[in-house]
Amino acid sequence: MPKTAFLTVLLAGIAMPASAQEAPDIELWRLDCGTLQLSDSESFSDTHLYDGQPRELTDSCYLIRNGEKYLLWDTGLPDALVGSSQTSGVYTVTVGRSIADQLGDLGLSSADIAMVGISHYHFDHIGQLSGFPASTLLIGKGDFDAVKAADGTGNVDPGPFAHWLKDGGGTVEPVAGDRDVFGDGSVTMINAPGHTPGHHALLVRLPHTGNVMLTGDLYHFEEQIENRGVPQFNTDRADTLASMHRFDQMASNLDATIVIQHEPRQIQRLPIFPESAK
Ligand SMILES: [Zn+2]
Repeated sequence: MPKTAFLTVLLAGIAMPASAQEAPDIELWRLDCGTLQLSDSESFSDTHLYDGQPRELTDSCYLIRNGEKYLLWDTGLPDALVGSSQTSGVYTVTVGRSIADQLGDLGLSSADIAMVGISHYHFDHIGQLSGFPASTLLIGKGDFDAVKAADGTGNVDPGPFAHWLKDGGGTVEPVAGDRDVFGDGSVTMINAPGHTPGHHALLVRLPHTGNVMLTGDLYHFEEQIENRGVPQFNTDRADTLASMHRFDQMASNLDATIVIQHEPRQIQRLPIFPESAK
């Protein structure tokens, strides 16, 4: 058989249905969800990599549109902080604009957000969650188990989850392992435990920009990629290192742009709001 004929037969054999051939219509915005000023980064390494270093961290949330459906990834610091600041220990936190305010710039309201995905249960990722009661909550199973078990006295605050914890409340889908969020491979929650038991990163496969991987808090700043800084407050050191290994290898194999959600030096890796990556 001539080579070209063989190729024709081969291609015919793997022809996809028309619907699967169309690239998903995906758009990604970065929302500003506050700033964390650190007077000392000591707690971000359990081997004293950053002792005494002051550092500014940004707090990012992300909006993803797939056709008519929207996913909000992380919900930042509480919007009660808009126009004020709060200091606790080494942290001083501020919020410039609420998520609802920024959604308004796009002609959207919380009712338009089908799903809210949470990378993990820390306070700077769940601050505005309660503003999205109609949304299905996607959260790592290990994290949701910890939220369910929390009594409010430890470092897991169940407060913002109240609507999804009560009978007859919001819909929650605890995610064990990875999750194909829209069912078309365009957006995947990547299981990356260690920072918390059910911590997840997010892979977004944009048709024009290419692949983008949002870290959650697997990394907080660029140095942690280089020198494997594991925060003292992570729940599992070995899981963290395994998750870093998996994340880095996936990013390399998919030629993905890595975006560290808390890294001010990486805000420019995506268009500045209200512009979006497509
Ligand atoms: Zn964080």
